[in-house]
Amino acid sequence: MRSSTIPARAGHTDIRRNNLEVVLRHLWAVGPDSRAGIATRAGLTRATVSRLVAELIGLGLVGETGVAAAAGRGQGRPGTQLALTGRHILAIGAEINVDYLAVLVVDLANREIYQQRRGFDAQRAGAVQSIRALAGMCGECLNALPVTFGGRDRVIAGLGIAVPGLVDEAHGIVSCAPNLGWDNVPVLPALGEDLDRRTAAITVGNDANRAAIAEYRVGSHAGTPNLVYVTGEVGIGGGMIAGGKPLLGARGYGGEVGHMTLDPDGPVCGCGRQGCWEAFVGLNALLAIAGQGAPGSRGLRGSPEDKIALIVAGAEAGDHRTLAALAELGRYVGIGAANIAKIMNPDVIVLGGYFTAIAEWILPAAYESFRAGLLAPDSAGCELATSTLGFMAAARGAAIDILDRVISNPHHLLTSDPQ
Ligand SMILES: [Zn+2]
Repeated sequence: MRSSTIPARAGHTDIRRNNLEVVLRHLWAVGPDSRAGIATRAGLTRATVSRLVAELIGLGLVGETGVAAAAGRGQGRPGTQLALTGRHILAIGAEINVDYLAVLVVDLANREIYQQRRGFDAQRAGAVQSIRALAGMCGECLNALPVTFGGRDRVIAGLGIAVPGLVDEAHGIVSCAPNLGWDNVPVLPALGEDLDRRTAAITVGNDANRAAIAEYRVGSHAGTPNLVYVTGEVGIGGGMIAGGKPLLGARGYGGEVGHMTLDPDGPVCGCGRQGCWEAFVGLNALLAIAGQGAPGSRGLRGSPEDKIALIVAGAEAGDHRTLAALAELGRYVGIGAANIAKIMNPDVIVLGGYFTAIAEWILPAAYESFRAGLLAPDSAGCELATSTLGFMAAARGAAIDILDRVISNPHHLLTSDPQ
């Protein structure tokens, strides 16, 4: 019964807002549907759905897209199909990583309308200059995009920023980002008032958590209810989806798989400890064991593509040291993934970032040590796979997180809050 989901103290406004969210979320998750289809699947009356849809059409969030073909004899009259439109509702996702900055914009229906990524030495620039550089890219993006879409003034629903570190999301503070050299950095003050004024909301979150959201929503493993996304950058992070929901832990610091200790006497990690998984499988670790960079997290400067190009060129040329380094990296990828699978038992562990570019050389060894490291039969039903989202995964997830907030309360964005 719907009434069981509404708190007893809820007033008319709460119920209407909740129902608007139900309709929007249905169209977002399921795709185009008729009023009757929405009513049936959402457990609302046809009259209620018609009223809600009229309101959402008025706000420019939903549109009629034509009449669906009848599904077959006896299925009733085909209904007018409704779909999310919201081309004027824009969400910005952005990322500061060790060696690049990224900005991406999607509209309410999750269509990508802008993307920009640049090599950037965030370690050398420091926190304030890195945040200002990202703010500059966001400003360029806002200036480049039209101010109206389909005759409606654009609405910048928010800016979501992803950072490779532990983030106190409630206060917008990066508590600790070892590979950036950040400690207790409040992000908002350095972004500047101009950006603050031009966007409805600004959030800061962990890059792996945001990338996991992207993988779960739009990646090749979309909808997989138990999923772990592993970022492949200089740093290694983990984003967890459990039962279809992000699993963040008591203080939001969960998923730091890159710093699980594999060997207490192992190589030094960017966090200062020894033998973390990241010290074996991070991008700079690979460059070091392949003879392409100094050991430790502060390896070669340059974009991830520049660094990976060195490795791929060596592998394609049959360079023995490079191939041995890739096989060794693959072995450690599998060992760490097996540890994750033993604790989480996910349906899939998705390797993102730079792992995709070197997949053909690391996966054979990774599969072998992964299977060998698991106790449960049939690899605990867990697949080890690579992501198709590339280096934009975290920015994409940050933008989706912003869209989620719009869908939860569209009126808050478009008009004064009815409460
Ligand atoms: Zn570490």
